[in-house]
Parts: sequence; C-alpha cells; structure tokens
Amino acid sequence: MMERETLCQQLLATARLMNSQGLNQGTSGNVSARAGNGFFITPSALPYDKCQPEDMVFVDMDGVIEGTRKPSSEWRMHRDIYASFPDAQAILHAHSPYCTTLACLERNIPAFHYMVAMAGGDSIPCAPYATFGTQALSDTAIEALQERKATLLAHHGMLCFEADLERVFGLAIEVETLARMYLQAIQVSEPPVLSDEAMAEVLARFGTYKP
Ligand code: 13P
Ligand code: ZN
Repeated sequence: MMERETLCQQLLATARLMNSQGLNQGTSGNVSARAGNGFFITPSALPYDKCQPEDMVFVDMDGVIEGTRKPSSEWRMHRDIYASFPDAQAILHAHSPYCTTLACLERNIPAFHYMVAMAGGDSIPCAPYATFGTQALSDTAIEALQERKATLLAHHGMLCFEADLERVFGLAIEVETLARMYLQAIQVSEPPVLSDEAMAEVLARFGTYKP
C-alpha cells in the first residue's frame, strides 16, 4: 500500500484540482482512493482549501470509520463501488456544470462522439434520482456502472472510477467535456450517433491505446 500520508496528500490535491479546474464548486463532490481493506475519502462539508491531509477519513469495507472528521456523506456509494469493481482504485463524484445540466434533464450521453468509449461503452448513462448520501443512491449508481466507468446521477451530478487518482481526474474532465459538446450540439439539433459497429471498433482500439 502507498504510504498513507502520500496517498492523503494526493487525495487532497485531487479534490482541490477538481474545484480549481471548474469541475466542481464549494463543498459539493467527493474523492476517494482505495487503501488496503478500505479507502481514504474526503471529509463531509469541509472546504478543500481549508483541509489538511490529516482530515482525510479512512473507511473500511464494513463501514468502520477511522479519523477525526466525518467521512463524505457518499461513503456508501464509494464503498459499494470498491466492493463491486476490483479495477476501481480511485473514485470521483462532482457536481460539474455540464454533466449536471444533462443530469437535470435526465438525459444520458449517446455515442455522438467516439470518445464516449472512454467510459467503457457506447453511452454514458444517467442513473435515476435518489437522495444524496443514501444507500438508494449507491444502488442506482452501481446499477448504472455495470460495464461503465462513468455515469451521470439524475438531478445531482456525475460519478466515475479509474485505476488511480490521476486517471480518475482525467476521465472526469473528459466526461465533462463530452457533456459540454453534447449540450452545444443539441442547441442545433439532436446529433446522429455512431453505429454499434463503429463504437465496437473504437472500444477494441482503446484496448491498445497506451503510451
Ligand atoms: P460531502 O461534502 O458529504 O462529500 O457531500 C457532497 C456531495 O456532493 C453529496 O452528494
Ligand atoms: Zn453530490
């Protein structure tokens, strides 16, 4: 396991970057990173620029909490993603403006652009609404994330997971950019979507798209 202190520093840096890069605002959103038999997660309702690495909270897979702060109200959603998807090493949830606009319209992002495949399939779904911080929200999120690494959350925001903190931030930026482009496109008309064959080819190529 990466040293706790280093991991918590990286976690806090990612949370701050989320706000400075316009992906999130205020104390909305949360970020976590897997560690041993659990994960470190941002504290609830604390501005990230007022946090120190020690404010990050450890939650184990049974929901036992270690630390002086309250964990993010979405800790159940993070725990259930780590439990369901072994590839998930880092999770980011944000109220990013373009994704959230689409989520408020209960719209998913179809294959209007090939980069939709970054989320692992031929669309980025929108999970049905449930109250923040509840097991019900976690359940709808897990359902939407079957065969996907990113989803919109209706009337709430977006959620994604990846192999590390750097990648999860990159995926969140990409999904937010796609949401922005899709919203721009639909001002003109509903764009045509790529065929199943075209998207299957992209998904196959993504398997070898590595430096
Ligand atoms: P926390 O501050 O508890 O992480 O809550 C923010 C949020 O986005 C809830 O969905
Ligand atoms: Zn939220």
